[in-house]
Amino acid sequence: MQRVFIGLGSNLAEPQEQLRSALAAMADLPHTGLLRCSSFYRSAPVGPGEQPDYINAVAELETDLAPLELLDHLQSIEAAHGRERSVRWGARTLDLDILLFGREQLDEPRLQVPHPRMAERNFVLQPLAELEPQLQLPSGESIQALLQQCPHNRLDKI
Ligand code: ATP
Ligand code: MG
Ligand code: MG
Repeated sequence: MQRVFIGLGSNLAEPQEQLRSALAAMADLPHTGLLRCSSFYRSAPVGPGEQPDYINAVAELETDLAPLELLDHLQSIEAAHGRERSVRWGARTLDLDILLFGREQLDEPRLQVPHPRMAERNFVLQPLAELEPQLQLPSGESIQALLQQCPHNRLDKI
């Protein structure tokens, strides 16, 4: 069993419902258990153009799936929630990103872990720190140090 942290995000079509439904879908994945989820947070959009605010959270799973198997399942859940990939970082119904997969460091075409942009995103770091305030990344950096260095974009716990 590996412990995995997933970043959830939505800013279309009832975002809080999207997240709740995604949590239920992840709890149903084979060889996988949903352990915990952070509070939900409302965050300022950082992508291109005018977009609604995002709802974000981080969930902790345990899984016997391989990393790419888990990614396949997460992408199926995104698709089932109407995710379309037209504009990079554009508005979306559901985004499920693998933030951490145990202590693995992966750099494959379809999967980079730890998530390569998590350190610049307070909407990822804050909910992750809520779940695991003493967390250390595989690089040795502490979540608290990353949070201090991270840009302070608007972020409100719901
Ligand atoms: P960002 O990755 O900056 O958060 P995004 O989540 O909007 O952007 P997506 O459109 O969801 O990007 O995914 C683009 C591709 O990223 C996916 O097809 C997937 O193969 C790849 N990818 C690489 N690393 C990861 C990861 N750790 N978690 C999820 N997808 C990843
Ligand atoms: Mg993302
Ligand atoms: Mg994604």
